[in-house]
Formats: sequence, structure tokens, C-alpha cells
Amino acid sequence: MIPYGRQDITQADIDAVVSVLQSDFLTQGPQVPAFEQTVANHVGAKYAVAVNSATSALHIACLALGLEQGDWLWTSPITFVASANCGLYCGAEVDFVDIDPHTYNLCPKALQDKLEIAERQGKLPKVVVAVHLCGQPCDMQAIHALAQRYGIKVIEDASHAIGGKYRNEFIGNCRYSDITVFSFHPVKIITTAEGGMALTNDAELANRMALLRSHGITREPAQMTHEADGPWYYQQIDLGFNYRMTELQAALGNSQMERLDQFVARRHQLANRYDDLLAGLPVTTPWQHPDSYSGLHLYVIRLQLDKITRTHRQVFEALREQGIGVNLHYIPVHLQPYYQRMGFQAGDFPEAESYYAKAISLPMFQTMTEAQQDEVVAAVRKAVAA
Ligand SMILES: *Cc1c(COP(=O)(O)O)cnc(C)c1O
Repeated sequence: MIPYGRQDITQADIDAVVSVLQSDFLTQGPQVPAFEQTVANHVGAKYAVAVNSATSALHIACLALGLEQGDWLWTSPITFVASANCGLYCGAEVDFVDIDPHTYNLCPKALQDKLEIAERQGKLPKVVVAVHLCGQPCDMQAIHALAQRYGIKVIEDASHAIGGKYRNEFIGNCRYSDITVFSFHPVKIITTAEGGMALTNDAELANRMALLRSHGITREPAQMTHEADGPWYYQQIDLGFNYRMTELQAALGNSQMERLDQFVARRHQLANRYDDLLAGLPVTTPWQHPDSYSGLHLYVIRLQLDKITRTHRQVFEALREQGIGVNLHYIPVHLQPYYQRMGFQAGDFPEAESYYAKAISLPMFQTMTEAQQDEVVAAVRKAVAA
């Protein structure tokens, strides 16, 4: 089976991890700060807080922004559930904004319309999570302008998008957001096995997230309520978690960062080649906004069902039967039973549901060979022909 995503691990990556195993620190040593510095420098953000997953990063990002009971968090329905769940962790309520049918990202026009209604009802969201689906950045200028007008905080869920650019600047520099989150799960662009990071240009947000990552405990005299009792002293000044990244993970991440730009360039080669090879088939290939240089975590095609006799499900199954590890990103979050119990219904977000009815993620990973890619395309040709 050709998987839809796969990590790319070299001997240098392995050596980096092994040398940490032989060192004094498996956690809370020098590797995590070094990895944070590397990523922050690369993307052009002031501060970075590494954690054990993007899910944890989203959680502490929401908490740092003050999201709590009585507040609302809005995001796109076409995302991994974590982009919405982070709001629920904080006791807030979650709602969704329908997608743009070309980029599949949260639609700024739909956001504007929904904000106007919410303002009249006194139910404006505190936080909007903008998800850069497949690695293609959202229309951040428009989202930022709306956020300024309505006094909303913005988190970029850039789990798919490290190494990509928006308007010629790296995603993660937080020019149009308060906090940006990356994921380092093995299917993503670089990996630390499990891992995530939150970036920001705001020192206070960075401090708060660093506290929340480690039990809300500080050893900084300046943050304490009174002078230290002695050299052993620390204070718990907030209710935090153990969301720390290990030294092994950070060493792997740092080593992977050396090849990030190469990884994304290779993904672009593969995507361009897919575009060419799939031209003429009854599928819609990904449209790229001219402002964006996508991280290309995913390559999603949509079936032109009016030109195909098979159903979406039959094409998907035919691809799996031919050994192609296709996937579907994502089942709209509002259709998940957990969210349906909150009152969301089929029909609430028609663009998202129409996308879901046609989308298939083809294999996309940097070690993919052209022969593998040809095999995928031949399988697609066969699956849509019958
Ligand atoms: C993968 C992913 C996450 C969660 O990442 P983890 O590191 O696995 O917690 C969140 N949001 C999106 C959009 C993702 O793709």
C-alpha cells in the first residue's frame, strides 16, 4: 500500500536522537530551547513554545488568550477535530464558518456575514482558529482585518503548513494572528514523532503558554508572589499541564528542520507533476491562491461526479483495492456525533458538506518516487473510468 503520508528519516536524524539518549537530559535539557529557537528564526516569529502535540499547543494557545466558559471559538468545519476541541477544553462554545469552495479554507465573506449577525446577538467569538488546509494559507489579511474590527483573537492552525508562505513570508511569523500552531506528527511535513509548537510575537502570551505547558509552575523570581523561600523554591501560579516535549523529540525536530525547505520544494515538484498527470481526468486538482506558497501537506482531488458513473465511495474503495492508501481530509467536524449532540445538523455548512462528498487525498510525502506517483495516477484513471 502506498501510504497517503510518511515520515522521511535519515541517518543524521537517527544520530541526533541517539546522541541525546547518551546525554544527561532526556527531558528539560538544551534540545527543546534549541529547537524552539530554530523554528522561531526560520519562520520569523519572536517566541516559540514546543509541546507534546499540536492539540496541546491549541489548548494552551486558547487558554493564554483567555478563552473560557461563556466565550465562543469559531473555526472551519473542514479540519481535524482538534481545531475545534481546543475551545471545548476551555469550557467555551464552538461554532463553525463555512469554507471557500476554491481553497477549502474558512471563507472570509462567510466570516464577515456571521460576525455581523453575532454582533447583533451579542455573541461575538473571542477566538477564531484559521486552519491552513493542505498547507495553503487562509486569506489572513481579510481575517486579520475582521478580527481587528470586531476585537477577536486569531490562532492560525498551521499543522499542515510549516515551510509554506503567505505573501512571500513564512507562515508562523504571526503577522496576521496572535498565535500560530504547528504539528510534528509523522504524517505532517517535519516530524518529532508526536509534537507541536506555538509561535507568537507577544512576550506575555509566550510566558503564559510556557507556564501552562509545565503545571503552571515558575522558577522565575519576577513571576512569584513573594521572595523565594530558598534555592529549592518554585511556585505554582496557574493551573497547567504536563505538555512538555522531550529532548529526543526536539533533537529529531531540529535535525528535520535542516531539510524543511527541501521537503516543501519536493512536495511542490510532486504536486506539479500530479497536476500534469491528472489533467484531462474528471477530477478537480487543488487550486493555489497566487498569494500562497503551500506547505502541501495534502494533495486533495475532488471528483467531478457528474462525469463519472461510480460514486465517491466506489472510487475511494477502488483506489484502496489497487493498493493506494488514499484518505479523506476531513469529515466535517459538525457532522461528528459529539458535535451533533450539541445541535449541529447536516445542511448547516453546505460548502463543507459538498467538499466532503467529492474529496479524496492522494498520497503525498517527500520520499514518494515518480514510479509510485505514476502508480497512483494509473489507479485514479482506472477508478474513475469504470
Ligand atoms: C494534525 C492536526 C492537528 C493535531 O495535531 P497533533 O500534533 O496530532 O495533536 C490539529 N489540527 C490540524 C489541522 C491537524 O491536521
